[in-house]
Amino acid sequence: MLIDISPLVDESINVWPGDTPFVQTVNVDMHAGANLTLSDIRTSVHVGAHADAPSHYVTDGIDIASRRLDYYIGRCVVLHIRVRRGERIAPDHLNGKVVSAPRVLLRTGTFPDPRRWNNDFASLSPALIDDFYQHGVMLIGIDTPSVDPFESKDLEAHQAFARNDMAMLEGLVLDHVEEGEYELIAPPLRLRGADASPVRAVLRTF
Ligand SMILES: [Zn+2]
Repeated sequence: MLIDISPLVDESINVWPGDTPFVQTVNVDMHAGANLTLSDIRTSVHVGAHADAPSHYVTDGIDIASRRLDYYIGRCVVLHIRVRRGERIAPDHLNGKVVSAPRVLLRTGTFPDPRRWNNDFASLSPALIDDFYQHGVMLIGIDTPSVDPFESKDLEAHQAFARNDMAMLEGLVLDHVEEGEYELIAPPLRLRGADASPVRAVLRTF
């Protein structure tokens, strides 16, 4: 079975305040008598479920096109985390839960509606990221717009991903996903020079 963990992307989805919103323009339209329909989109590359590239948070970091694909495809574990809004998830929040796969998706429920922005979503502590790295984790995904708190300027969590050369997925929808192991399928587009890419993130049950 396939479980879609991507939000619907249209003009009502929120992007980070101040970032470029998603807009679709239909340039040729069969409904207006044309022989086909053609549209273009303008959007932040950080729209909806997306993968950040190192070039987003490291001066000399590689772009999303240069990123290895194996980060984004393979065995993962979904964990439900009880964390207060606005808080960084620390190792203690795991409450003894076992990281049993090289990719970990964290369901926090702290950004419940991608069409109604809230600033007080949960994020990741650098200690948690380092801890996961020690346990062989290569990718962490989260159901919030960022792995760092809304107000963060130093982006300590992003920097922890950088020093461990780990990958991240942000903006996932995990409300309907049970804890457990799945196959993750969420490759980014091969966009040269891009600091992120939207992904169609899917879980396959074993
Ligand atoms: Zn991002």
